[in-house]
Amino acid sequence: MPTAPEDAITNGRTFAIISHPDAGKTTLTEKLLLYGGAIREAGAVKARRAQQHARSDWMEIERQRGISVTSTVLQFRYQGYRINLLDTPGHQDFSEDTYRTLLAADSVVMVLDAAKGVEEQTIKLYQVARRRQVPVFTFVNKLDRESRDPWDILEEIERILGISTFAMNWPVGMGMGFQGLFDRASREFEAFNRQNRTFDRMSLNDAPLDSHDRMQLQEDLELLEGAGEAFSQAAVTEGVLTPVYFGSAIANFGVETFLNGFLTMAPPPRPRESSAGWVAPEAPYFSGFVFKIQANMNPAHRDRVAFVRVCSGKFERNMPVAHVQSGRTIRLAQPQQFMAQDRAIIDEAFPGDVIGIHDTGLLHIGDTLSEKPDLRFVGFPRFSPEHFAEVELKYTLKHKQYQRGLDELVQEGLVQRYRPEDLGPQVFLGVVGPLQFEVLEYRLKQEYGVEVTLRPLGYRMARWVVEGPAEFELGRFDRVRTVIDDEGQRVLLLEDERSLERLLERHPSLRVAESSPLR
Ligand code: GDP
Repeated sequence: MPTAPEDAITNGRTFAIISHPDAGKTTLTEKLLLYGGAIREAGAVKARRAQQHARSDWMEIERQRGISVTSTVLQFRYQGYRINLLDTPGHQDFSEDTYRTLLAADSVVMVLDAAKGVEEQTIKLYQVARRRQVPVFTFVNKLDRESRDPWDILEEIERILGISTFAMNWPVGMGMGFQGLFDRASREFEAFNRQNRTFDRMSLNDAPLDSHDRMQLQEDLELLEGAGEAFSQAAVTEGVLTPVYFGSAIANFGVETFLNGFLTMAPPPRPRESSAGWVAPEAPYFSGFVFKIQANMNPAHRDRVAFVRVCSGKFERNMPVAHVQSGRTIRLAQPQQFMAQDRAIIDEAFPGDVIGIHDTGLLHIGDTLSEKPDLRFVGFPRFSPEHFAEVELKYTLKHKQYQRGLDELVQEGLVQRYRPEDLGPQVFLGVVGPLQFEVLEYRLKQEYGVEVTLRPLGYRMARWVVEGPAEFELGRFDRVRTVIDDEGQRVLLLEDERSLERLLERHPSLRVAESSPLR
């Protein structure tokens, strides 16, 4: 059984970028790909995204995605590193997939808009990353615009996200007065040339700063040294300290400093927890897990692509591997790898890499593929949905198809399903992003020939009951529903945090979880 060569492991970096829409994730991705030579011109990623966003019809998005499935992972090389950048769906296709993608990353880059700081979607995604204790790197973007005070931004990251910060570089001025960035590691100044949107590196002494800016910078640096957190690689690795870079993605300013620093500090592929203990990337057998399934929306091609993150060993095309969940051995004949604009059949892959596999319905999210048949990766949660609906079949004669369709799509991880506690006939569904409901309706119709009605429910979160009373006492204004999920666990559907707090106050023995294991 093949082991991965040592440098294939040490040089691998697999990460995801998280951000609130419009903070600049796409622009930064594009600049990173330019450094890696993976695209030839700026605007390539952007143009494709813009096309997607211009259409409100999700089918168009899916149709586009059928072609641009490549955007799930972008592999490129830079300075000897083999980089896998996992794309987290955002905007209107924000879904449980967005969270699941983070399960395949070894580190996370958080992009903030310097004028807006820490925003809602960033918080949600950060919390998923934190649960896995992966290193988080921060890029504070749009320094070329009027932005908030850098101290404010650091304070906000620490207060809202509860992670310590270490500024790797420091801005002088902002917006129209933006002069450049001081790189604390090299102690050099990157002067911003506003006209050409370029920058020059120079010693601080040579920097074209007036006496006010120079004094301000000295003062800030002293404060950073004195009051700031000490840098610790161990703290970064544990995910309790985030290195913070300031810059402007669109002006390609501070991006190179960020990329170089990030690649040095970010971890190579990390060991993964399995039923047989931790699996190190150096283990002498191939193993990996499915973290995302992308159905082909074209009814003429009902195949799907399962995205597999390689965890250990060396993957070779055509090698027989055990699909642990079904107990079957399969051959992966046409594994694909993804570049910025193309996908290609590949012959081998190493830990940290993501490969796409054509699948006809065998593979599910969280499944293990391995040369070692008695190994199963663990730790794939179902995340709390944020939208709920009651589903009903329109024409009851199609009950059988409806049942099968719903069973299969729930298993695939498209939606979560709940039943009333008294096991009445109602069926409730939950999703992270509303687009998932549209995809469900469409696929039930196209693939199973059934039409359903989805009646929205007013709940906004689910909590799994770890321990609690047999019956809940509810106040007059409480809108809480207890349901049972597909695994037989009790789940509370709630309107907001406040209603959860009230419930916890009233039932001191109640303990709940924000997510639940997939299987
Ligand atoms: P995403 O939604 O996070 O992927 O954000 P985009 O990369 O699409 O950027 C959102 C908007 O901000 C676009 O209009 C970009 O051109 C703009 N933008 C991105 N980076 C910068 C920057 O550094 N400075 C300025 N002024 N605008 C930027």
